[in-house]
Amino acid sequence: MAEPNPFSAELDNLIAALHGELKANTAGELASYIPELAKVPADLFGIAVADPRGRVSSLGDAAHEFTIQSVAKPFAFAMLLDTIGRDATYRSVGVQPSGDPFNAIELDPRTNRPFNPMVNAGAIAVCGRLLQALGPSAFDRLKAKLGDAAGRPLDIDEAVFRSENETGHRNRAIGHLLRAAGVFDVDVEAVLDLYFRQCSIKVTAIDLAMMGVTLANVGTNPVTGREVFGVDPVRDTLSVMFTCGMYNAAGEWSCRVGLPAKSGVGGGIVAVVNRQLGIGVFSPRLDEAGNSVRGQLCCIGLAEDLGLHAFDSTNPGSNFLRAWDHGSNSRR
Ligand code: GLN
Repeated sequence: MAEPNPFSAELDNLIAALHGELKANTAGELASYIPELAKVPADLFGIAVADPRGRVSSLGDAAHEFTIQSVAKPFAFAMLLDTIGRDATYRSVGVQPSGDPFNAIELDPRTNRPFNPMVNAGAIAVCGRLLQALGPSAFDRLKAKLGDAAGRPLDIDEAVFRSENETGHRNRAIGHLLRAAGVFDVDVEAVLDLYFRQCSIKVTAIDLAMMGVTLANVGTNPVTGREVFGVDPVRDTLSVMFTCGMYNAAGEWSCRVGLPAKSGVGGGIVAVVNRQLGIGVFSPRLDEAGNSVRGQLCCIGLAEDLGLHAFDSTNPGSNFLRAWDHGSNSRR
């Protein structure tokens, strides 16, 4: 018989404790800007954690599919960096926190470019540049890239895609603003088609944990061994997730949790412990900033219990795996 896996056993207990504590929390509201998202069962709650050896602990609705929404943004950004290089990427989108809601119709007045790739304006700029570079194959290649990060092929939710497309007037306004500013030079409708498809890709909390650990593992999926993103794009992507990933709550998040992360209005959050862990959480009730309520609390709990904050040097979390492999690392 195989040796029991100490990573799984202890982490399973910790995840179970957090899941039990947070289950009763029903604060927040489902996203309702399209009917499909308002129809998702509000109580779903899944947690998954993966490490760079491909070990995964998960609980609850961690295998339930939901739409990735804005959690796709850092991965599309990394792909753009890999595709057109750093200089061309930064001529199209900045890396500055905006402090404004994710769907703000605005450019950074200093540069006439979107503030950063984690808000809609920046993500639509990334889609425009990907389309310009890759042509009509852009979506298939983006979907394949996210699938390589997750370690399985991914598909889109057609109903969500259709509604995003029919009702996305704010995003259309942003697309035209970007085109007028010369951020990209391709048809705005085609760019939005790519953006809405990207938002509609279906993932699970386990997928998000694997996508997160692919970033933590310097761009290589630890299960398939496939190099998905280059080393330099991963460093830039994690940096921008750290400063801008949680929208207008990004500052509080970096102090409280201290991990690069990205949320989406589908209720998913991915968080990354550099070189050590990927965390994927799914719970569809959102706070006012558009971040999953239980998802955030779960990341706070994991960061506190395991000492994962990037700058907390008083605990073993900065060497999480090493400490784990030499005995307990939990503070519970
Ligand atoms: N589809 C959403 C939008 O473009 C995604 C936003 C999000 O997840 N924050 O408005």
